[in-house]
Amino acid sequence: MNYQTGSALETSLTFSQNFGQEENGAVSQPPQLSIVLPIYNEAESLPHLLEELVPALEATGRTFEIICIDDGSQDNSFAELQKLRAQDERVRLVRFRRNFGQTAAFAAGFDRAQGEVVITMDADLQNDPADIPLLLAKIEEGYDVVSGWRVERWQEGLASFITRKIPSTTANWLISTGTGVRLHDYGCALKAYRSDVIKSINLYGDLHRFIPAIASYYGVTVAEVPVNYRSRKFGRSKYGISRIIRVILDLLTVRFLLSYSTRPIQIFGLMGLGSLALGVVIGAYLTLMKLIYREDLVDRPLLLLAILLVMVGVQFITMGLLGEMISRTYHESQNKPIYTVREEVG
Ligand code: UDP
Ligand code: MG
Repeated sequence: MNYQTGSALETSLTFSQNFGQEENGAVSQPPQLSIVLPIYNEAESLPHLLEELVPALEATGRTFEIICIDDGSQDNSFAELQKLRAQDERVRLVRFRRNFGQTAAFAAGFDRAQGEVVITMDADLQNDPADIPLLLAKIEEGYDVVSGWRVERWQEGLASFITRKIPSTTANWLISTGTGVRLHDYGCALKAYRSDVIKSINLYGDLHRFIPAIASYYGVTVAEVPVNYRSRKFGRSKYGISRIIRVILDLLTVRFLLSYSTRPIQIFGLMGLGSLALGVVIGAYLTLMKLIYREDLVDRPLLLLAILLVMVGVQFITMGLLGEMISRTYHESQNKPIYTVREEVG
């Protein structure tokens, strides 16, 4: 399912666009910052969050909008959001018809963001709004993507070390090595993006965790800043231990998309040719044995292997060609460019 065209799937409250025509007839400017908050059953956290977030944003001296995406919450989250919206027009609300997941919520926010810089964070008070200026400073330095790094995330103690530190360090190492974009903390939701970068990325599935890596495909610069991290006060985490396996599977997808999605024949074709060649060599050897030495092939497992290798080889090459056709359809049907331009002169 393509979440990018989610307008039919959600009830988006129609605000007389925050930034349209003002009373005196002047057309107001779009805000400079867009904050995107995915929300699933966070009713208790929301008032506290906005209480911290709004002053922190005001302190940056920039205009902003806070886009809250209620991802099909079953608690009072949306009612809370409506109250907050009534107090502050800069809060915009999007309500999904059901729980579509954090990636979809991010995508809905990115589609609507008007600011030049888009900032994402968790709605559960685990990220600290006071860190936002740090991210902005890095963006100003010229980076396209800035990721938070929750440095002091671990309480002392063996239990925390084994259940949290080891899995998380392994996951970050795996993703960093697999994608070539080295980050200490892929899981930190507090991130800042230049708007054109985030808008050029099509998200689906659970791929929000890999945005910096996917963005690297377009040749962006990525920076990391240490940020504060707090434990959850209200509600509970929406993810269990199964997240680890899903992240590994997603990593395979991302790795493939990053390196071979535009030339599948090169990876499948190579494996196919290798297998085919080996099969042919073994087959030729067996044929010689049969013809010259009159050897019986009935009890030679090698014959089976040769046949298997040839068949697998042909399959792989066919798969590569199918991949080529799919990739062509993908790029042509979506008008996806195969390159991105940083700037142009003249
Ligand atoms: N979230 C969401 N949809 C989901 C699951 C989570 O919008 O299906 C939101 C959730 O409300 C929170 C953020 O995504 O604001 C991160 O979720 P959570 O805190 O449960 O993840 P964790 O911090 O445990 O990684
Ligand atoms: Mg959280």
